[in-house]
Amino acid sequence: RALRVGLTGGIGAGKSTVARLLRARGAHVVDADAIAREVLAPGAPALAAVAEAFGPRVMAADGALDRAALAEIVFSDPSSRARLEALTLPRVAEAAAERMERHGRARVAVYDVPLLTEGAMADLFDCVVVVEAPLKARLSRLAGRGTARTQALERMANQASDAQRRAVADVVVSNGSSPADLVDAVDRLWEHLTGG
Ligand code: ATP
Repeated sequence: RALRVGLTGGIGAGKSTVARLLRARGAHVVDADAIAREVLAPGAPALAAVAEAFGPRVMAADGALDRAALAEIVFSDPSSRARLEALTLPRVAEAAAERMERHGRARVAVYDVPLLTEGAMADLFDCVVVVEAPLKARLSRLAGRGTARTQALERMANQASDAQRRAVADVVVSNGSSPADLVDAVDRLWEHLTGG
C-alpha cells in the first residue's frame, strides 16, 4: 500500500504548487477542491440536497448551482456554512478515500486539501505536510494571481491559522523564498516520504 499523505496550507502559501511537484515525482495526488466541485455538479446527489436546504436563490436558471450566491450566503452566516458542510463534506470524504486507494503503483498517495485541521481528519494520514509562507509573500503571490488584498485577508480569516495547521503537521515545508528553493524543499520532502 502507498504512504498516505495529507497536504495542506493556507491560501497562497503554495500548497497547489507542492502538489504539482509531488505529482511530477510520481505521487498519486487527489484534489479535494476538485471533488468538492464534483459533488455539487449538475445531477450530483448533494446538489439536490443543497437545493432543498437553501432554496431557489442558490440555483441558476439552467439547474446548475449558483456558486457565487451560495458562497455569499455561507460566507456571512456560520450556521449556513455548517449546514452546507454537513451536506457535502461526508460525500467529499467518501469520494476522496476511494480515490486515495486508486494509487496503482505509486508509493505515495497525497490528499491535497485546504481544510485538514478540523475533526480527526489528520488521523487519516501517515504523514501530514503543511506548506507555509510569510503573510507578506502570500499576499503578493495572491495579488499576482488577481486576488485583492482585502479578499485574501477575508479568506484567510475563514481558514485555520498557521498555529492550528502546525499543531497537526508532521512536516512543515517553508515556501518563503524562490520557486527554485521550493523545488529543493520538495525534493527533500520526496526523499523523506519515500525513504530514499
Ligand atoms: P490556494 O489555496 O489559493 O490554491 P495555494 O496555497 O495552493 O493557494 P499556490 O497556488 O501553489 O498556492 O501558489 C500561489 C501563487 O504563488 C501561485 O501563483 C504560485 O505560482 C505562486 N508561488 C508559489 N510559490 C512561490 C514562490 N516560492 N515564489 C513566488 N511565487 C510562488
